[in-house]
Amino acid sequence: MSSRTSSGSLIALPPLPFDENALSPAISERTISFHYHKHHAGYVEKLNTLIADTPYAGLSLDEIVKRTAGKADAKSIFNNAAQAWNHSFYWHSLSPKREQPGGALKAKIDQDLGGLEKLKESLAKSANEHFGSGWAWLIMTEDKLAVVDTADADTPFAHGKTCLLTIDVWEHAYYLDYQNLRPKHTEAVINEHLNWSIASARFDQAAR
Ligand code: FE
Repeated sequence: MSSRTSSGSLIALPPLPFDENALSPAISERTISFHYHKHHAGYVEKLNTLIADTPYAGLSLDEIVKRTAGKADAKSIFNNAAQAWNHSFYWHSLSPKREQPGGALKAKIDQDLGGLEKLKESLAKSANEHFGSGWAWLIMTEDKLAVVDTADADTPFAHGKTCLLTIDVWEHAYYLDYQNLRPKHTEAVINEHLNWSIASARFDQAAR
């Protein structure tokens, strides 16, 4: 971690919610290992270095993302904070089990997006057609579900949206397993490993 000297707690790297081999073969243990220990950990470490002795030191990750969004003089802090936030969110968007949406979320998917198959198509299109590095998301915007993509570190959370699920479409998320074939990775994640139970819980929380 950093050699910061100011008081205030460091932003922590949260533990992975599953074993590193739990999503194999859709996402290999090697990919998860590099992704978590090198990329995610790297963003957290860089963030802690950048915020040392700034007014952002000691704030929660949520607060740092919200307060630095759109600020030209805090671009590096935002990028590393948002990437730390996105990766924590991403790990919890994945499940070792094959799941289906249920309850109120399922009804809302039918109502707003024309059903689960349409949502999957839309999410795949968003992930596959996003140009360059970024993220594909299922979000709540006002009172409707929507599928969107964001570039680089940007996150709907920074813009006041409620995030339900995300897929990382940076090359580091799939290149060891699929090389340039991003759609194959997208398909495997969408069909086998989206965490619909956590998406439902996030939806219920937002709808309260
Ligand atoms: Fe990533």
